[in-house]
Amino acid sequence: MPATGGRYDAVVVGAGHNGLVCACYLAARGLKVCMLERRAVAGGAAVTEEFHPGFRNSTASYTVSLLHPKVIRDLRLAEHGLRIVERPFANFLPLPDGAYLKVGGGIEATQREVARFSRRDAERLPEYYRRLDVVADVLRELLLETPPNAGGGISELLPAWKSARALRRLPLAAQRDVLDLFTISAAEWLDRWFESDPIKACFGFDSVVGNFASPYAPGTAYVLLHHVFGEVNGKKGAWGHAIGGMGAITRAMRREAEARGVEIRTGAAVERIVVAAGRASGVVLADGTQITAKHVVSNAHPRWLLGALPDVAGEWREAFGNYRSESATFRMNVALAELPDFASLPGREAADHHRSGIIMAPSLAFMDRAWASANARGWSGEPIVEMLIPSTVDDSLAPPGKHVASLFCQHFRYALPDGRDWDAERERAADAVMEQVTRFAPNFKASVLGRRILSPLDLEREFGLVGGDIFHGKLSLNQLFSARPALGFASYRMPVKGLYLCGSGAHPGGGVTGVPGHNAAREILRDL
Ligand SMILES: Cc1cc2nc3c(=O)[nH]c(=O)nc-3n(C[C@H](O)[C@H](O)[C@H](O)COP(=O)(O)OP(=O)(O)OC[C@H]3O[C@@H](n4cnc5c(N)ncnc54)[C@H](O)[C@@H]3O)c2cc1C
Repeated sequence: MPATGGRYDAVVVGAGHNGLVCACYLAARGLKVCMLERRAVAGGAAVTEEFHPGFRNSTASYTVSLLHPKVIRDLRLAEHGLRIVERPFANFLPLPDGAYLKVGGGIEATQREVARFSRRDAERLPEYYRRLDVVADVLRELLLETPPNAGGGISELLPAWKSARALRRLPLAAQRDVLDLFTISAAEWLDRWFESDPIKACFGFDSVVGNFASPYAPGTAYVLLHHVFGEVNGKKGAWGHAIGGMGAITRAMRREAEARGVEIRTGAAVERIVVAAGRASGVVLADGTQITAKHVVSNAHPRWLLGALPDVAGEWREAFGNYRSESATFRMNVALAELPDFASLPGREAADHHRSGIIMAPSLAFMDRAWASANARGWSGEPIVEMLIPSTVDDSLAPPGKHVASLFCQHFRYALPDGRDWDAERERAADAVMEQVTRFAPNFKASVLGRRILSPLDLEREFGLVGGDIFHGKLSLNQLFSARPALGFASYRMPVKGLYLCGSGAHPGGGVTGVPGHNAAREILRDL
């Protein structure tokens, strides 16, 4: 006889930020909610942890922009202590020939920087930002909508009409931009606008973040767009830092959830979803405990449902089985004795360039080579690396005078060729990343006091990110909007009645947005 773990209106599998958001909205309407998280700490991929004695940092996700202002307001995150600071400027690109590019800090400042490479590119910048923002506004408008669900019948007419209206209002040129940004490559999009490499590299970097693709591959322009629909403190497109790291966001969410009466159990891995009379009616934990609930909400990766519902047959199994999930990302945290001293902009005292997103990938061609090399050999010896040094804006993370850096590296395949495995290769790949940074900042390698490495396999083991995909599945056209996670399942309702998906595998996809959790809660409450 299984141990009984209680009876609830809703049980949420996983306490990632979307699960927390969903639970908060459900509890606000009086539902008795229990969250079950297999890790020892709630927050999913948005957590801050100590990784070296005295040094803390965001473990996975590391920078904030996409978190929806409505979620921040509704969950009273600022009242629970969340403070987000903007970067002084967005990006710093050290270049191999001793030059550099700084982007951000106001349009005039960026134009002055870009003009050092191309006067024409500098002149085109304001129009580029304007046109991209028009399209980003369409995305913003659709974020909080439930996408029209294929096969949903007459009830889907309203969402379909709302989506069409958002597009129809745009001038024809902007409609063309929407079509292009959803289909063409980032390189094709950027080549239309600019002629110099550094600015194309800076913008194009977003198209390969969490996306195993060459920037010359069709579809990559959308991933670029996905990274610009956010804002920091009302400033559109900006990226910032949550004081205390990304864990500060989920700590504030947890406080609100608990204030609304949500019960959060950690160290509680769910093994199976119980289905009775064609309806989800609870879950069974790995230790055999059974929990009964009227609604089951999954914050886990969509493919987790295949194992959790072994007896639920149907064509959904093939669709979810084909769901593509690999972002080919490699994540490191390093504890630093001193700041990187860049050959192209020397100095070991904290300066604005240390406080920005430092992109070590000087051109689109470089990114293409990194992709091709990873495609053939698993990962490139010259990887694409972005480094952030959050301790330059947040003194809660490292001892005085010392620093922590987040290294986010692209194009490290989940499945290595020739039977090689990540447990044997993790340290060697980490060394290649350190070499890459040291090429631009010669004191870097010697300044590292400790490091924590997360290979794609580690991301899967630690956070349940299937295939190591940071977004719970690729952001490709066949896995977006009405097709996320699969056609017919875009309304957050899963293959059995009473079962919902509230994580990043649902519209609008990955990133610390809180939006899938918000939208799923609305649909659950509608069904009540
Ligand atoms: C390395 C990395 C870097 C990133 N960088 C950024 C960034 O800088 N900015 C940004 O906006 N986004 C970033 N992202 C993406 C973003 O972090 C994720 O899209 C987002 O955090 C996912 O939130 P979620 O709530 O949907 O799911 P998750 O955070 O994945 O939470 C799901 C939770 O479910 C739990 N779970 C899974 N299975 C079970 C089970 N069977 N039983 C119980 N619990 C279970 C997991 O342990 C996890 O806690 C990054 C992600 C990664 C991995």
